[in-house]
Amino acid sequence: MCGIVGVFGHKEAAGLAYTGLFALQHRGQESAGVAAADGPNLACRTGMGLVSDVLGGSVLDALPGDAAIGQVRYSTTGDSNPANAQPFLIRHHRGPISVVHNGNLVNSIDLRAELEEEGAIFQTTTDTEALLHLVARSRTHDVVDAIVESLHQVRGAYSLLFMVPGRMIAIRDPYGFRPLCLGRLGGAWVVASESCALDLMGAQFVREMDPGEVLVVDVAGIHSLKPFKETRSAFCIFEHVYFSRPDSTVFGKPVQRVRKRLGEQLFREQPVQADMVVPVPDSGVYAAMGYARAAGLPFEMGLVRNHYVGRTFIQPTQEIRNDNVRVKLNPVRDILAGRRIILIDDSIVRGTTSRKIVRMCREAGASEVHMRVSCPPTIGPCYYGIDTPRRDELIAATNSVDGIRDFIGADSLGYLSLPGMLEAMKTDEDSACTACWTLEHPVAIPAVDAQQLRLFERGQR
Ligand code: SF4
Repeated sequence: MCGIVGVFGHKEAAGLAYTGLFALQHRGQESAGVAAADGPNLACRTGMGLVSDVLGGSVLDALPGDAAIGQVRYSTTGDSNPANAQPFLIRHHRGPISVVHNGNLVNSIDLRAELEEEGAIFQTTTDTEALLHLVARSRTHDVVDAIVESLHQVRGAYSLLFMVPGRMIAIRDPYGFRPLCLGRLGGAWVVASESCALDLMGAQFVREMDPGEVLVVDVAGIHSLKPFKETRSAFCIFEHVYFSRPDSTVFGKPVQRVRKRLGEQLFREQPVQADMVVPVPDSGVYAAMGYARAAGLPFEMGLVRNHYVGRTFIQPTQEIRNDNVRVKLNPVRDILAGRRIILIDDSIVRGTTSRKIVRMCREAGASEVHMRVSCPPTIGPCYYGIDTPRRDELIAATNSVDGIRDFIGADSLGYLSLPGMLEAMKTDEDSACTACWTLEHPVAIPAVDAQQLRLFERGQR
């Protein structure tokens, strides 16, 4: 759960990267940072907190130069601590090199163990640092060759930006798990996780990078390489269901349009008699619009979100999560009292948040609360960079739909089916990752995790 941005060929590169990170703040709220290249020199500033906390004031004055990369982060591999904040900036025998990463390498533990055995010293607990070690050890002369050689040794999800003096290198993994798009701002090139960042930077969207593409940006322009063996794609469907911003275009489709289609399909599969459709803001809003439109029911904002509180889902501890639901959402009694409502949410993870929301609506006077979810039951954790909890914490991994309905206290509960979700997205199982609903992992997960999943499965039977 990270957002990355890169700028090449603009005299205010660090300021632009900072601006782009604002638009990507929803992708990570733990740490932020920007590195800039000024001729042969690279400099970097990182810290814990939101973009404005870490990079506001005069911080950017220390980052001159016409190229910059930045990241907002929420940890999925490695702890939440200042050492893990990116960009990383190291010096090796080819000179300085900086990197930001969105995604998760599934073989990083093995890689790290091998590297440590050979004497490597790690300063962070991230998978990205293992990649930097591989680049530093490569015997190839050119840094792009070293990066490509290193990437042949890693498996998993990665959208990456490397920066060295005079060049920026943008990479999307061969499966294309995470998005990455290219934009143009005057004579400058811009790369970002989502197109909403290009909008805020004032850049024109050029195209999405292809899965497996390595894009080298220098003063001569852009050079696209395809050094990896072609494979099936595995776009993360959860980017559309929940994670990306609705004003972005991701995997070739406008996110808000996909979410409305999910809502329409959800109505076709899970209709129910009620007076109105109420979204769980913010990620349920567009699916609720689609559901209401298809059902011919009023769409009402019966829950108001306090935007100064972070998303429940990406708060790091259960304790904070418990406190946050009430702080974050407040019911509008005038809308809900005496009404039969259909609550639309993008997913149910542990079930504890949904339970509180259902109770909140009843306390505000709703006479019936029907819950509808715009994806199938989430039964498996993500190994490719979205922070979902362990399998035994996922309520749908251990409960039937009726069991979940009873737990959350709703009058009825309905999920979108897998075929319905794929249909609404106009995609199929062979080009998208559906592992959190099917446990079909496009890239083999670590043996120890696979074994745990098998043991868990056996325990449930
Ligand atoms: S497991 Fe789920 S969240 Fe993770 S990449 Fe696949 S679809 Fe996305």
